[in-house]
Amino acid sequence: MDDALYFAEQHLAVREMVREFARDAVAPVAARFDADSIFPWENVKRMGELGLLGVPWPEEMGGAGFDLLSYMITIEELAKVDASTGLTVSAHTTLGTSPIVRFGTQAQRERYVPLLASGKVLGGFGLTEPDAGSDAAGMRTRAVKKDGRYVLNGTKRFITHGSVGEIFVVTAVTDATQGTKGISSFIMTKPTSDLEKVRELGIGHEPSLPAMKGFRAGKKEDKLGWRASDTAELILEDVEVPEENLLGKEGHGFSNFMRALDSGRIGIAALSLGIAEGAFEQAANYAATRRQFGKPIAEFQGISFQLSDMATEIEAGKHLMFHAAWLAQHGKPFSKEAAMAKLFCSELAMRATTKAVQVFGGYGYTKDYPVERMMRDAKICEIGEGTSEIQRLVIARHILKEIGK
Ligand SMILES: Cc1cc2nc3c(=O)[nH]c(=O)nc-3n(C[C@H](O)[C@H](O)[C@H](O)COP(=O)(O)OP(=O)(O)OC[C@H]3O[C@@H](n4cnc5c(N)ncnc54)[C@H](O)[C@@H]3O)c2cc1C
Repeated sequence: MDDALYFAEQHLAVREMVREFARDAVAPVAARFDADSIFPWENVKRMGELGLLGVPWPEEMGGAGFDLLSYMITIEELAKVDASTGLTVSAHTTLGTSPIVRFGTQAQRERYVPLLASGKVLGGFGLTEPDAGSDAAGMRTRAVKKDGRYVLNGTKRFITHGSVGEIFVVTAVTDATQGTKGISSFIMTKPTSDLEKVRELGIGHEPSLPAMKGFRAGKKEDKLGWRASDTAELILEDVEVPEENLLGKEGHGFSNFMRALDSGRIGIAALSLGIAEGAFEQAANYAATRRQFGKPIAEFQGISFQLSDMATEIEAGKHLMFHAAWLAQHGKPFSKEAAMAKLFCSELAMRATTKAVQVFGGYGYTKDYPVERMMRDAKICEIGEGTSEIQRLVIARHILKEIGK
């Protein structure tokens, strides 16, 4: 892709800075953190210092003051070497922070966004439940209004930063007779589960945030990929949430979440693209140096065609992802394009990483090289923030609406 098509000087500078950080700080620990499922707190601290935990938010909110394209570049570059780190940035920014930036009151923004955007604490988004995944509207978490407070009960499943995070936007049913219009969202706080660790680092915990009684992390997931990313249940047992923590209007929680998910999909597309690019780079270098039958394996058509297919699809994925981001950045409708970018790039990541393992032969199947990790990391991109099937449903709805017009 011609850089000039979407990028200005500032984007190239962000890309260089993130590339350098990914190479020097993320790549050296990626394999070990994946193997032992270690959350990268030291790198979270460094990312906070570099502004990478608040890329698209204005400086007056504690953010880096860059734009959406810079944010997508950040995720893409991190995911080239480690998808878990890319996801930490993406889940924290799009899921944990953007609903407060977009739908919060001035007081809520002032209270929470600087803490999140600076990386002082991590945020997350609690939508999914044990019995409500793709059908998120089927959630059972309830919020009952009582004496100027809401009392919340329920369980959220698979929440990124569920145990390490402190600020969460959580959905609950406030009026069961209204369907999706009876769902609201709340800002909820609890201390991180890694208090001891983060005290040493001086980030990850903010003592002034109330520890809401009855709100805690539950089971931590042991996953196939994204193993250095934290995924846990959130348990809500008679949690009293002050009225001022209602985010947006009562009954607007579902539609607000759907809007946040639209841009979240571009982020997962960027993450997927990064994984595919990382795998391609590994495979191309390996194919150029690995010799069999007296020559580099890249000289065999069976291998070079795989590289050609990977490179072609990556180019297509870049255009889809950056086009969706460009539309979003310029205030144009982008829901269909975001779903297309997410669908294509996540499936591309799976195809590209599988091909990369094949190019590496037996070595690709070992932990001596990163391609097997990349293949495991790619799979969840077809599931999280709306499965491939759900993306196809979203795209089909847009197409049918256009035909109807
Ligand atoms: C590592 C990880 C991190 C996550 N992070 C978060 C987070 O931070 N916050 C959060 O709220 N959630 C999070 N999730 C949850 C994620 O968004 C859900 O797992 C996802 O939306 C799918 O829901 P489900 O797992 O319940 O699958 P289900 O909805 O039960 O789907 C099972 C299968 O049925 C298919 N299916 C369902 N409905 C249809 C349909 N109408 N048509 C065709 N096929 C259909 C699905 O595509 C899928 O193949 C995370 C999940 C994981 C694994």
